Amino acid sequence: MPNNKSIHHRRTKIVATVGPACSDKAVLSRLIKAGVNVFRLNFSHAVYETLEQVIRDVRDLNQQLGTHTALLGDLQGPKIRIGELQNNGITLRKGDKILFTTVPCMGNAQRIFLNYKEFPLDVEEGDLVLLDDGKIKLEVLRSNRLDEVELVTVHGGLLTSKKGINLPNTKVSLPSLTEKDLRDLAFILDHDLDWVALSFVRSPNDVRELRERIQERGKDTHIISKIEKPAAVDEIDAIIAESDGVMVARGDLGVEYPLEKLPLIQKLIVKKCLHQCKPVIIATQMMESMITQFMPTRAEANDVANAVLDGADALMLSGETSVGQHPVQVIEYMCRIIETVEQGAEGIYYRERAESTEEERSLSDSLCYMAGRAAKYVQAQSIVGLTRSGYTAYQVASYRPHCSVFIFTPDPQLLTRISLLWGVRAFFYDKKSNTNQTIDEVLAFLKNNKYVRKGDVVVNTGAMPVGSDSRANFLKISRIG
Ligand code: PEP
Repeated sequence: MPNNKSIHHRRTKIVATVGPACSDKAVLSRLIKAGVNVFRLNFSHAVYETLEQVIRDVRDLNQQLGTHTALLGDLQGPKIRIGELQNNGITLRKGDKILFTTVPCMGNAQRIFLNYKEFPLDVEEGDLVLLDDGKIKLEVLRSNRLDEVELVTVHGGLLTSKKGINLPNTKVSLPSLTEKDLRDLAFILDHDLDWVALSFVRSPNDVRELRERIQERGKDTHIISKIEKPAAVDEIDAIIAESDGVMVARGDLGVEYPLEKLPLIQKLIVKKCLHQCKPVIIATQMMESMITQFMPTRAEANDVANAVLDGADALMLSGETSVGQHPVQVIEYMCRIIETVEQGAEGIYYRERAESTEEERSLSDSLCYMAGRAAKYVQAQSIVGLTRSGYTAYQVASYRPHCSVFIFTPDPQLLTRISLLWGVRAFFYDKKSNTNQTIDEVLAFLKNNKYVRKGDVVVNTGAMPVGSDSRANFLKISRIG
């Protein structure tokens, strides 16, 4: 392995969910300094004024600190919930029968409202209904195909108001974007967030529909598909192809699937994303105990390490940073685990991938792949990419080179967006110099700022001229003088 201090930076990125525990500007600043690369704004709990302040603060901090922290807006999607319950709760016991109705009412031990009008039409006898993250399990007995469904309790428990419902076997006919999602999407586009995450994706069409709505507004916000339903796992290749990135949303996925299936599903999705050169985030309960405790459990440290070894681009924290007691320490701990694993495990690096089948892209895809192979072969210390669309960054990062990856772009939005990508460090460059001059200038910048040093071998690749729309079209290997 090349011996250069600059390569010992953290490659696996960190996504932190913003909430009351960290929305203060001083805490956001500490989180960025500790290592957060992307802040997730969860629109399930959105108060627009608060989010607007967070967006302003993160952008302001990026200016002050010289960072490129990205913003990801996470749409709630068609989340199904029960309504209010009398006395704020009922206890269901095994064998108890209960009616779910689509007619609004105050719930009690006989009848409960749910916010899903087509439920009586979509369910079949024997379908499972999971409540409160799967803690309570019911089975459908019959439906009147209009507004009522009778269920029997399989696993009981205390059920409180507004709890979420998962339907692992039912073909849910709800639209992928609810009216709330459309309002939230308008907010996300108005504020030019870098990424939008789509919850409960069921098919590639859901992603296409979101993309059309983004394009209708003349925007280019990139889409993360949250994989949290068996239907999405069944169509995973097509969904990855349609998306700009993917999230393994283990919270809902772990309700809809038996938990023992999650580890292999996670590995499968990461592998497929790497093959298609799309970034992948592992989410939920990574450091859950740190919501209250000062250090993670052994099992959590292992979970983080395994996600790094799988090859994920980023690991996500939810309650740990949004409502937890130690948001900054969570990031510090996570960085330590990631860095230690990345330095000790060579299996993370140099991922082979399927040959590009898209004729239009096959030359540029091969070129980016060759940049990675060449860097390995000549033991280069850095790959330096030039890109306008970001395409080179996605391609190069997916090979997981062991050396540094520096990306130069004239697009300010891209600087923050590609913060999510494994190993990528991005810099602004908008001069319209010729190829040799551009390479000299970006290398001089890297040398002056001590990212590279005299004698380092550097692989340059990307699209030239930098300001054009071409895809990667050159490769140059040189030694820093
Ligand atoms: C998940 O289910 O793991 C997830 C990230 O989604 P959310 O937090 O929006 O429920």
